[in-house]
Formats: sequence, structure tokens, C-alpha cells
Amino acid sequence: AEPLVRIDGLSVDFATPRGAIHALRDITLDVPRGKVLGLVGESGCGKSTLAYSLIGLLAENARIAGGRIDMDGQNLAQLRPREWRALRGRRISMIFQDPMTSLNPVTTIGRQMMDIQYREKGGRAEKRARAIEFLEQVQLPDAASKLDAYPHQLSGGMRQRVCIAMALLTRPDLLIADEPTTALDATLEMQIVALLRELQEKFGCSVLFVSHHLGTVAELCDEVAVMYAGEVVERGDVAQVFRDPCHPYTQALFECDPARIREATRRLPTIPGTLPDLRRPPKGCAFRARCPKAFERCETEHPPLYDAGGGQAARCHLNDPAEDRA
Ligand code: SF4
Ligand code: MG
Repeated sequence: AEPLVRIDGLSVDFATPRGAIHALRDITLDVPRGKVLGLVGESGCGKSTLAYSLIGLLAENARIAGGRIDMDGQNLAQLRPREWRALRGRRISMIFQDPMTSLNPVTTIGRQMMDIQYREKGGRAEKRARAIEFLEQVQLPDAASKLDAYPHQLSGGMRQRVCIAMALLTRPDLLIADEPTTALDATLEMQIVALLRELQEKFGCSVLFVSHHLGTVAELCDEVAVMYAGEVVERGDVAQVFRDPCHPYTQALFECDPARIREATRRLPTIPGTLPDLRRPPKGCAFRARCPKAFERCETEHPPLYDAGGGQAARCHLNDPAEDRA
């Protein structure tokens, strides 16, 4: 099927006093229509930067240095602020790690939910009913009474539910979730993940789910993209990648113990070594300094995303059909 979003060769730089940081390098990735795509990797790998570039919220010092982001005939990489305002919160919406990022502390939930609908059709009563309906969709008890509540009167878990209701209120095509369960305890995390899955299926939207939690990705996502040092190093169907990871970085993350991946407490393991300096990305493979399988070619030749079959691809020379080491 035709993907909802096609990211093609996307590069993003951050200007700093000590030179440009090449935070995203040549990202080529599809966001499938009506499915959940997980984005995983260590902090600093670029997963949040990629998420923010899909909703036009890159930091002031960021610059799209190349590539395209195509959605329904529009290149999002070239949109002006005014064009973003028409799209953001309507066709593309986002939930953040901290619900207070998107909630206004001095305005009631009801007022905020009316404001979100200002461009939508219908009168006040209809919009109010829709707000209540969406608070019910996210399983807030006594939803109607929550319209008069201020964010601080709700628990952290309830606030994140409100944010999900707000993000879905305009029936977006794409919902971006940047580690939305990180601040919650394991029980709440599982509830929110189950809720996201249920609502995604009900509304049929696409979800980009940024996470450093493999168990959550296994539970929620249909497809996964693994990022390392500003690049997508592996992508494919979740079950397939988890069963048979093709990139040594993904293999290290999974530690060859797929049975444990679904444990609620399972977070990304720490892999020895350090990330390359993204001001001067290495010439060969970015993972080389930490890779137990590195060989001569990895030092000089930057690996492309090799097709590994069945939609899976890995940025590692071991997947080159011409290479006989695998
Ligand atoms: Fe390791 Fe070489 Fe593959 Fe990079 S290309 S992941 S260094 S084997
Ligand atoms: Mg982040």
C-alpha cells in the first residue's frame, strides 16, 4: 500500500558555536498508512529530531540540509510557518513525554478542547459533545466533569489521556508520540500503550511512536526503525526484526534473548563504547567503533541500507549479497 509519509534522503543539521552537528543523515523511511511505526535508539540518536521534523517543530538552530518529506503531494520539508499552522494539530498531531508540554496550566481542559476545534465544522454544543466523547474514548471516568478541570487537578496518567484525546480530536492522519509513557509507572505505561493501540485501530490513523523501550515497541508497533548516530540502521516488520535482526547494533540491543523483550521493565541495554562525534561523522560505518563484527571494509566504505528481504533492510556490509562473511 502507498505509505502516508515518504521520507527521502532527509538530513538535518544543528548550528552550534563549535560547528554544525549532523543530527540526521540521509534518512529514507516510509510511515505506513494506518499502522504504527516505532522509532528506537539510544538518546542522542536523532529519533526525536526525526519526529519533530515531521511536525515542523525543529529547534531554532536546526536546518533541513537536504531531502524531502512527502505527504499527499506536499513536501513537508519546505513548508512555511503559516502552512505548518494549517497542518499541525489537525492532520498531524503530537503527544509529548511531559503532558504539560501541550497543556495550558491556566485554562480548563474544556476550553482547550474547544480551542483545538476552532477550525472544525459545527456549533458550540456539538464541539462540546465531541470533547466529552473523546474524553470518554480515552477512558477518563466522569468525562463531562473533566471539562471544568484545570490540568493540575488531574493525575499524570489522566493528563496524558487528555493529551491523547486532544491529539485525536481533529482526526489526524498522523499521530506522533515522543516517549509518551516515560514519565509514568509500569502499570500506567501498559494502560496507555493498550489505549493507543485501541484508538489507532478505531481511527485508522498512522502513529509514529518514539521509544527507547523495546517491550513497548514489541507490544504496540507494526513496523520498527532502529536509529544510530543520526541514521536509520535497520528497519522492517516488528516481528521479523525482533526475530532476526540483521544489524549488529540491533543484535546488541536485543542481546539474543527475544523472550525477555516483552518484559515491562525492559529498556535499552547499555552497549560499551561511545557515539561518534556528529560534527565529523566517520567516513565508514558509524557503528564501527562499537561493532564486534567490524572488518576492513567498514572503516572506509559507508554502508547503504541493504535490502534483507521481506521489507527488512540494514545499513551494514554484512548484508551485502556480495559479502560472504554473514
Ligand atoms: Fe559492523 Fe561493519 Fe556492519 Fe558497521 S558495516 S555494523 S562495522 S559489520
Ligand atoms: Mg528524545
